[in-house]
Order: sequence, then C-alpha cells, then structure tokens
Amino acid sequence: MKKELIRKPTGTLDILPEDSFKRRHIELELCQIFSIYNYKEIRTPAFEKTELFKRGIGDYTDVVSKEMYSFHNNEFTLKPEMTAPVIRAYIENNLDNLPGLVKLFYISNMYRHERPQAGRYREFCQFGAEAIGSDSYLIDVEMISLSTKILENFGIKNFITKINTIGTPIERKDFLKDLKKFLEEHIDSLTETSKNRLEKNPLRILDTKDKKEIEILKSAPRLYDYLKYETKKHFEAVLNLLQRINVKFEIDYNLVRGFDYYTSTTFEIISDELGSQNAVIGGGRYDNLIEELGGKPTPAIGFACGIERLLYLMERNNYKFPSEEPLTLYIVTFDDETRELAIKTLIKLRENNIKCDTDYQNKSVKAQMKEANKINSEFTIVLGDKELQSGKAFIKRMKDGKEFEINLSELEKINFSKYREL
Ligand code: AMP
Repeated sequence: MKKELIRKPTGTLDILPEDSFKRRHIELELCQIFSIYNYKEIRTPAFEKTELFKRGIGDYTDVVSKEMYSFHNNEFTLKPEMTAPVIRAYIENNLDNLPGLVKLFYISNMYRHERPQAGRYREFCQFGAEAIGSDSYLIDVEMISLSTKILENFGIKNFITKINTIGTPIERKDFLKDLKKFLEEHIDSLTETSKNRLEKNPLRILDTKDKKEIEILKSAPRLYDYLKYETKKHFEAVLNLLQRINVKFEIDYNLVRGFDYYTSTTFEIISDELGSQNAVIGGGRYDNLIEELGGKPTPAIGFACGIERLLYLMERNNYKFPSEEPLTLYIVTFDDETRELAIKTLIKLRENNIKCDTDYQNKSVKAQMKEANKINSEFTIVLGDKELQSGKAFIKRMKDGKEFEINLSELEKINFSKYREL
C-alpha cells in the first residue's frame, strides 16, 4: 500500500531552487549594501534561553505571551526576533570593547506561532541591523534612510515610512494612566483583543486595525504630549535631517511596535501592495535593553525586514532578478562505455570551472537531447558507437543547431569560446 505523505508544518515554506536563487541574490546584495554602510555580520544560535525573550521583549507582548516555540520544560525558545539575541551576544562577547559604534547586521530565520495567512508565516526569514552605542539622532537617520535605500535598491517604489517617538517607560507612565481612563469610558466599543490589552499592554491598543477603535482613538490623549523636552528635541532633529536628505516619511503618533524594549524613535515601512500584513520593515530605538539584559547602559537602534514580504514586493514590481547560468555542455551518451567516457570528461571540464552534466538514468538518446534542450544547455556532444570507433564527435551549438567536428582526444580541453564564435 502506498504510504501516506507527510507534509510540512503549517506556516512553513519549502524554498525551491528558483526561489532559493532569488533569495541568494537578495542576500548577496544585502551583504554589499551593509558592507558599504560599515555593518558587520553576526550569527547567533537558532534557540536561546526563554528568559532572554521574556525579559527582553516583555511578558505581555503577543510574541512572548502566545507565539513562542518553547521546549525542554520551557527552558529554551526558537528565536522569534533577533534584537534580544544580538544584544545578548554583544554583552556576552564584550563587543563594547570594539572601537567606535558597533554596527551589526544579520540574515536569519525566525519562529512565531502566529495564525498563518498571506505574508505571515510561522517560520520566516528576517534581515536587519543593530547599531549599538550612540544616542545621536544621526544614527536614527542612518537607520531609517538605510531601510528606505534597501527597498529602493530592490526596485520597490510604493511604500510609506511612518515615524513616531514613544519616549521611555517613565515618560509613558502618566500617559498610560490617562489612556486607560479614556479607553475605559469606551469599553463597550472595544474589541475583545483591546479589552484584554487594556490591563496588561494598553499601549498596543494604539496599533489597532479596527476602524471603530481608530475613530475612538482620534480623541484619546496623545503620547507625544506627555514626552519630555529632550525626547521631542531628538525626534525633531531626526525629522529635520530626514527632510534635508530627502527621505520621505509620515509622522504617525499612534505607531507603537510589538515589543516592550522600544524607546524614543520608532518606525515602520508599509506598502499597500502587501494586503492586511502591510509592514515590510519595522524598527526603532531601544535605549534600555542592554541594561535590562545585564549590560552597561548603552543606547541602540535597529530595524528588521521580512524577506518573504520583500520578495513578494520585488516580484510585484517586476524586479529583474539575474538568471541562473545555463549549462555550457550536456554530454549525450549511449551505453556504459560512453557514459564512463562522459564522466571522465566532465570531471576534467569541471576542474576548469566549466558547468556541464550528463544523463545518469540510462535515458534514450532522444530523451537526453530533449532534456539538454529543456535545460537550455549551450552545447551538446553525442557520444555513441560511431564516435568511439572514428575517434571523432560533433559539438552542437544549440541556439542555431550548428555542429563542429572535434577529436575525442580534445574532449577534456574543449575551447568553448572558439565554438561560440565560429
Ligand atoms: P517585527 O520583528 O515584528 O518588528 O517585524 C519586522 C518585519 O518582519 C515585518 O515588517 C515583516 O516584514 C516581518 N515579519 C514579522 N513577522 C512575520 C511573519 N510572521 N511572517 C513573515 N514576516 C514577518
């Protein structure tokens, strides 16, 4: 009886060769961009102690309270985001001893037990950057302009960069009290999610997508009005410089992000082309996180971008991905003797970086020619009885069908350029 097929877990992706090739292109481009901006790559484990995320991201956030893949009696968790692991590694490896600002980037898979939908997966890939050690508005501007540069570099045109400042937990204290009071007056109109957030994470209610709540929030107290002078001054400096360097943005006073570590500047880049999960990049300052995780007080800022959403936008915008180089040569064989000659030839050609292949499934000559055509091989050579006896074969240029005679003794050192030009 045929065995039942075991399928991949819900919310995960098989990234097949065509998509892998595109992702590899994105990764190589990213490495180049980050290098120009002087960011260096960091890799951290796929899983961390659960406590890192609880303390770093916050117990009452969606990610920590319901989306973590934890195991071994909850001791470990597959990473749902990368800022906390990067900061853990920064502290643990004394990266503060490095000269200057510590600028790091990563490309890595993340895991969140979310409800899967278009653009939202349980295993997804993020790249991002963290700049650790400066409270200057200049680095906020660099992060935001780098984020937009990356999207532009990948041919994405229609996006909106939203910016806000959310101050520190101390600055937010009075605001949260007033916000709660205000929302309690409208409790009957709130969604169940917001009712649940009211006690534990009221700030997140500002992030609602519910139309009725958005309307109510228009008359709610505004966080910005509660922030201290220095925080507002920092924000103004960021906005002014962004304007001067022609980075387009919109201020969104209700933009709060999903993690508790954010302080001061927050930003998100959205695109209408993405549907309901419309954010492609999210980031902000997290000036208290390093101290919170056991390091010295150190200001920092970062952003993360989802590769699946980026790829979707690139494809929608008809980004011209490079195409994979086709085979230079496919050798068509006839029997074991010619197959062995083909293998010996291929080994030598590959030593000279020639991309070449042959048949390993004892297919008919006709089927092999069909395959060579289908995979777009530049040249083919048929090796059969006749060729073995005469010591000569024909190399066929597939684009125009022209054939050139060669000696079998030449096979291992074929000059393909010659046959391209003839
Ligand atoms: P976050 O880490 O939640 O701030 O998200 C940063 C970016 O990662 C988002 O703007 C998305 O592009 C991407 N992202 C977050 N969660 C998911 C998910 N479940 N599936 C796919 N991409 C995601």
